[in-house]
Amino acid sequence: MNQLDLMRKFHSALPLVCEWIDKTLKEHSPNATSVINLSFPRLSTVLPLDLLTRARVVVITEKVPFPPLSQMGLPEFTEMENMMMAGITFKDTFFVSHLHQTESLHFHELVHVVQWERLGIDNFLLAYGAGLMQFGYQDSPLEKMAYSLQAGFDSGSLSMNTAEIIQQQTDDIWNMVSTWISTR
Ligand SMILES: [Zn+2]
Repeated sequence: MNQLDLMRKFHSALPLVCEWIDKTLKEHSPNATSVINLSFPRLSTVLPLDLLTRARVVVITEKVPFPPLSQMGLPEFTEMENMMMAGITFKDTFFVSHLHQTESLHFHELVHVVQWERLGIDNFLLAYGAGLMQFGYQDSPLEKMAYSLQAGFDSGSLSMNTAEIIQQQTDDIWNMVSTWISTR
């Protein structure tokens, strides 16, 4: 199957993915806590307090949840489904494995929270899915951005305007992705 057909298939699975995300967030919401409540003092030196207040985190002892895309007609994502991830973000909530509760990982997932807010649900999923299909996980643009800013966070080179930088870079990625999608 070529990438455009796969993208089309991914597009038609979006309602199912959204439904699964809502169900998953609802199920875990009793265990979600606002990021501001955690004792990670460096986050607030680079990200605004209102973001840390709205963003929620769920610490998980089993595998972090990932949409069962193969059951939604997308067997191409089986490998990704089975990956042991340290964390994953859905809208304003992220899940982190109890084995990886570092401030650095929380920062990485917060980059995704800003990306979700900037793009909205459908466009985030489209951009993320298109990036995965085109480049694979590590090099997909939204991940690459998160890993690169995370490296900046780790080395202490980020400033207080990091959220704006994420928004700008997310807009750039969307402009690129929407050109691929419009060639369908
Ligand atoms: Zn990530």
